[in-house]
Amino acid sequence: MLSYQHIYHAGNLADVQKHALLAWMLGYLAQKDKPLSYIETHSGRGLYQLDAAESRRTGEAAAGIERAQAEGWFDAHHPLSQALRQVQSRHGAAAYPGSPMIAANLLRKSDSLHLAELHPREYAALAAAMRPYGAKTYQQDGFELAQSLLPPTPRRGLMLIDPSYEVKSDYDRLPGIIAKLHRKWNVGVIALWYPILTDRRQAAMVSELKSQNLSKSICHEVPFPAAREGHRMVGSGMFVVNAPFGFADETHKLDTLFSRLK
Ligand code: SAM
Repeated sequence: MLSYQHIYHAGNLADVQKHALLAWMLGYLAQKDKPLSYIETHSGRGLYQLDAAESRRTGEAAAGIERAQAEGWFDAHHPLSQALRQVQSRHGAAAYPGSPMIAANLLRKSDSLHLAELHPREYAALAAAMRPYGAKTYQQDGFELAQSLLPPTPRRGLMLIDPSYEVKSDYDRLPGIIAKLHRKWNVGVIALWYPILTDRRQAAMVSELKSQNLSKSICHEVPFPAAREGHRMVGSGMFVVNAPFGFADETHKLDTLFSRLK
């Protein structure tokens, strides 16, 4: 039974790392005048309101994207700033785009979006939010969807895998899943997000991912203070296969920004 709801965490420091890197990669890929596919295995609801009671209750967005915007972490030309501006002008100042809506705002009419979400309520919200963008949504297991679509048409593109890790076996099976997806789609950019936990639950998965020597893979991690006392997440990681040219430089900028956090 799935219970995770991203509205409690939308715009937190993990989202800032994940969404900044995702937006940068999509902005880079979209510079080339060739269509691409965007596939997301764990989409969430696509659009969040940061003044919602759930978001205010945790205060995670206040310590994340709201702080980043107040301190000008990303200049006006950064693709994350562009997506935020577009979504806020359409949905109000408290609106925050989830990853599917960041992608929809940065991609072109010629690009294809495939979005999986299993939770019935989250799926209904996702389908409604993404309908105006012409995205294909699927109430289906994201890993099954990914297997069935690869290699996608158009063949260029990016897949985001952003599980809620409610199923603890995800940590054990993700390296194998990613290696298999990469074999089926050797030109695709595959990005996996993972939490950095106080008990280092993610460490064996990350070692295994690195040991597979997948093409042009880059692992980026940022530490940050726990959202509240006793909270186990103390950082955020992205493992990217076929990382686009310039990706490493972008991660170094985030290292500097996150190093200022106390
Ligand atoms: N990627 C989103 C973003 O950054 O805006 C957040 C996604 S949230 C971390 C993870 C989502 O995965 C939850 O909405 C959860 O319901 C969904 N989920 C969990 N298991 C799934 C599965 N096997 N297939 C598809 N979605 C799943």
